[in-house]
Amino acid sequence: MVHQNGQGGLPNLLDIAIQQLNEAADRLGLDQSMRRILSKPQRILTVSVPVRMDDGSVEVFDGYRVHHNLVRGPAKGGIRYHPAVTMDEIVALSMGMTWKCAVVNIPYGGAKGGVVVDPTKLSIGELERLTRRFTTEISIIIGPDKDIPAPDVNTNAQIMAWIMDTYSMHRGYSIPEIVTGKPIEMGGSRGRVDAASRGCVYTIIELAKCIGMNLEGAAVAVQGYGNVGSNAAVILEDLGCKVIAVCDVYGGLYNEHGLDTKAIKQTVAEKGSVIHYKGPAAPITSSELLELPVDILVPAALENQITKENAPRIRAKIIAEGANGPTTLEADRILNENGIIIIPDILANAGGVTVSYFEWVQGIQELSWTEEQVVKEMKRRMVTSFHEVYSRAQAEKVDMRSAAHLIAVERVAQTIKLRGIYP
Ligand code: GLU
Repeated sequence: MVHQNGQGGLPNLLDIAIQQLNEAADRLGLDQSMRRILSKPQRILTVSVPVRMDDGSVEVFDGYRVHHNLVRGPAKGGIRYHPAVTMDEIVALSMGMTWKCAVVNIPYGGAKGGVVVDPTKLSIGELERLTRRFTTEISIIIGPDKDIPAPDVNTNAQIMAWIMDTYSMHRGYSIPEIVTGKPIEMGGSRGRVDAASRGCVYTIIELAKCIGMNLEGAAVAVQGYGNVGSNAAVILEDLGCKVIAVCDVYGGLYNEHGLDTKAIKQTVAEKGSVIHYKGPAAPITSSELLELPVDILVPAALENQITKENAPRIRAKIIAEGANGPTTLEADRILNENGIIIIPDILANAGGVTVSYFEWVQGIQELSWTEEQVVKEMKRRMVTSFHEVYSRAQAEKVDMRSAAHLIAVERVAQTIKLRGIYP
């Protein structure tokens, strides 16, 4: 079945997700009924979200919360605010969360939520009212032991605080475990903000060891300078890499001698984009950045960035997918043929949900870990998962994306078999 088109004629993320599932299912020899169970979301909630705007008018936004599969535990996944959100995209991303949680072996099922909105066009008050009403609409399926939202594209700790407050107000007492990625002052975990980036860097370090790449002075390009991209750039620079190019939706910066990633992050915090950075750098477009001859490319923006059109021109040695779904299936094949090693999204950016899990555990136990504990435990899990995926890829002679899917789909299918089909 071909689903609702991806944006601008790009492949639909859900078609890609189902094809990846089918490839794993073929190799694992899963029967038709198991494939059918895994290829469908368990439930989709569509909501309409009326919001009183500052000028007194009422706008109505579409929103979704999808549970893909809950067999391994409560539903877990972020909420994104973006004008290009579609239901298929959210379904695909929820499936990705099922596999991601299974790859790093944390006890969650996959979920995702989204609102079709350009948050940059809202005032802070409108953003808060939108968040509170969306939370109210999805409150029938979220809960601290059934579905725990988190930040994703264009959502952050403040938005998580509003979700937590709204949910708690309805219940009449404080329920911090309803979300992860919330501010530390109200039960957020230390080390959560840069967890996806830090985890991504751990997978790069392990891969570099496996293939004998020296990270000292390694050239890096980062697409997307939001939470994942900016922190990955900073951590890689701290590690001794040379970050030669970064970009966001407004434009990009290039310096062959290396950029000052922290100063650029500061500029983004103050002025909203990398393009306002005044330090030594030449402008670069996002497509030029993707095609630079770097050692490491970190796509950390949106899906469908590396396509069959630009894949033949990509010259990175390693691609570490900070974003979810940045590479289309056709592009993936081209990159593999060209010997480019991809650390797939469901492994590369799983540090985020791993620390979300720690945040949830700390909340339930009503205690808090030090940053050192969080980082150490996340690193342990990311390094273990990386090597499970890497060895599986070697053993089965497949790329790491296929190997990660084999591990994840196998774990989920095994749990379904053990639990049985109800009734
Ligand atoms: N949105 C993040 C992701 O795609 C984090 C999800 C979470 O922490 O629940 O992995």
